[in-house]
Amino acid sequence: MSSNRRSTGMTRRHALQSLALAGAAAWMPRGIANTPSRKIGVALVGLGHYSRDLLAPALQLTQHCELRGIVTGSPQKVPEWQAKYGIPDRNVYSYDDLHRIADNPDIDAVYLVTPNHLHKPHTLIAANAGKHVWCEKPMAMDAAEGEAMVKACRDNKVQLTIGYRMQHEPNTRRFMVMAKEQPFGRIIKLRADAGWFGFHDGPTDAWRTKPEFGGGAMYDMGVYCVNAVRYSSGLEPLAIRAWDETIRRDIFPGVDETMRFRLEFPDDIVAECVTSFGRNLNVLQVDCERGWYMMSPFQGYEGNAGRASDGTVFEPQLGKTPRMQAEQMDQDALAILNNAAPRVPGEEGVADMRVLDAAFASARGNGARVEIAR
Ligand code: NAD
Repeated sequence: MSSNRRSTGMTRRHALQSLALAGAAAWMPRGIANTPSRKIGVALVGLGHYSRDLLAPALQLTQHCELRGIVTGSPQKVPEWQAKYGIPDRNVYSYDDLHRIADNPDIDAVYLVTPNHLHKPHTLIAANAGKHVWCEKPMAMDAAEGEAMVKACRDNKVQLTIGYRMQHEPNTRRFMVMAKEQPFGRIIKLRADAGWFGFHDGPTDAWRTKPEFGGGAMYDMGVYCVNAVRYSSGLEPLAIRAWDETIRRDIFPGVDETMRFRLEFPDDIVAECVTSFGRNLNVLQVDCERGWYMMSPFQGYEGNAGRASDGTVFEPQLGKTPRMQAEQMDQDALAILNNAAPRVPGEEGVADMRVLDAAFASARGNGARVEIAR
């Protein structure tokens, strides 16, 4: 290696170290010098896997918010949740009386953790009740629904935040800074694969396999790929070609088990992505003019780690699960308390839904090139 190359490498490592600090600084809770004394009261809507196993335990770790209410269609779950988390009767709702939450000063924000087809109707009810909305990914069934959700929250002067937890993870935040700083030169190509091998027992009633609930790998895991190539490039994609590569059609009658897609960005940058319910996939790679960097896993609940072509190692940053969810909710609570913009506003979800709309249209046309709406 020439001394010139070596010194360039050192400089680049230096640059990456500063970016690490920048990433860490960006991850520090906003307004830390002026920590609010009040906490945001949260009601979880939908008491399934993600609420039960991740968000409710994470809310026990947060500094700026606390679990105060539950909204469920399963009355049999209520006693256990009330006993475990000390939730009073006045803070228990069904989906049908969610609008009554308007009168409840204990609740500042509702967190929607229901199947995807319910995100829009529940956002509208919560926003009209004057409550801030935290909504799980994918934000909606399509971009039009997402836009209606953004409008309802804007009209009611409440925040709408999407649960893209990775955007609160420090290595991911480093990648976002690197998209701007370009330490390895111009980005040429990105790759993001996200999937899990599930539904081993054959055909099932699970909502993730049904089109009317927003089932399919693209909605569930493809959004991680789309969001990752957008935040890792700092660019909005122009067009997409997508192919539905479903194999187990009996399990996934009207939805995609596997979707492969190729995104075109400005300046001839491309992203190749795969999402699947039939394969375990978890890798994000950014290829640049003078090197590369990658993370695998890049969308895990913990242990997200990677490396770069100059030997830089991205060690896992956050602690054990559910630390990431606690970070996310603390950040989102601080945004409300400080009347500041949330890190992942509704518009971020809409941008991904526009890509999904185009992906589904392309897949219907067997990989036809479809331009992405702006
Ligand atoms: P789940 O099936 O375990 O739970 C869904 C809950 O919604 C259940 O309690 C169910 O009773 C309730 N529900 C209400 N109406 C329903 C209906 N019509 N059909 C079926 N269930 C109904 O699902 P989950 O894994 O908790 O996912 C919920 C949401 O959270 C989804 O939007 C999903 O994409 C998201 N999620 C996000 C992450 C993440 O890492 N950010 C992880 C898992 C799930």
